[in-house]
Amino acid sequence: MSDSGTLTKTGLVDLSGVNKHFGELHVLKDINLSIAKGEVVVVIGPSGSGKSTLCRAINRLEPIDTGEIRLDGEPLPSEGKSLARLRADVGMVFQSFNLFAHKTILQNVTLGPLKVRKTDPKQAEKRALELLERVGVANQASKYPAQLSGGQQQRVAIARALAMDPKVILFDEPTSALDPEMIQEVLEVMIDLAKQGMTMVVVTHEMGFARTAANRVVFMADGEIVEQADPETFFTNPTSRRAQDFLGKIL
Ligand code: ADP
Ligand code: MG
Repeated sequence: MSDSGTLTKTGLVDLSGVNKHFGELHVLKDINLSIAKGEVVVVIGPSGSGKSTLCRAINRLEPIDTGEIRLDGEPLPSEGKSLARLRADVGMVFQSFNLFAHKTILQNVTLGPLKVRKTDPKQAEKRALELLERVGVANQASKYPAQLSGGQQQRVAIARALAMDPKVILFDEPTSALDPEMIQEVLEVMIDLAKQGMTMVVVTHEMGFARTAANRVVFMADGEIVEQADPETFFTNPTSRRAQDFLGKIL
């Protein structure tokens, strides 16, 4: 099967022949990756291997040099209204929670729907409260981010992403900045989302999450996808030397 033909079966997110440089540094090297609707893909690899750049490329926070990224069969738009819509369709949850400090928890969740989706305010608020309930922080709705724990803030960030009804959510090391006792509460929300069929790309070193929730593990090193497999196969029988070395260090 060829990656270039338009007749090949496409995923929800399709990257083909994606290359990206930062100056001399080749950070994404001919990335081909197709993510199916409802699939949970965990991306792992050493620091500096290009995982964050890959996520940022998928919602066009980072332009690519060559290749193509498609969402639902459509090439990513480069600017204007269609770019705003793309960003709404691709949710993103970062390591640092990135909530708006001067808005309440409720406002953090309603802002996107009101501005980008032009949702009716009453409806946006109702939905936001439902989502905050779902991630277990509805009782914090009128507080400000600084009044919440890191784990709670990250759950709000997930609710905020969900409020846009995204087609896919990208998680870039969502638990790396959390105190250990708060990691599980965030992972549980993510596991729940995975079970409900959300399409997810998750950069994480939480191998428990990968084993529980991932359909596929993609191992990156030096800007390349070195190896990919279902979690069971990958963790018990990594084939590349680089994956073996990496797993030896983190497990
Ligand atoms: P990872 O998320 O796997 O740790 P990144 O995607 O953040 O890796 O980074 C890949 C490489 O690109 C690293 O060497 C990093 O230093 C470099 N890099 C990332 N962002 C930039 C940037 N804006 N300008 C220059 N170099 C960058
Ligand atoms: Mg990173």
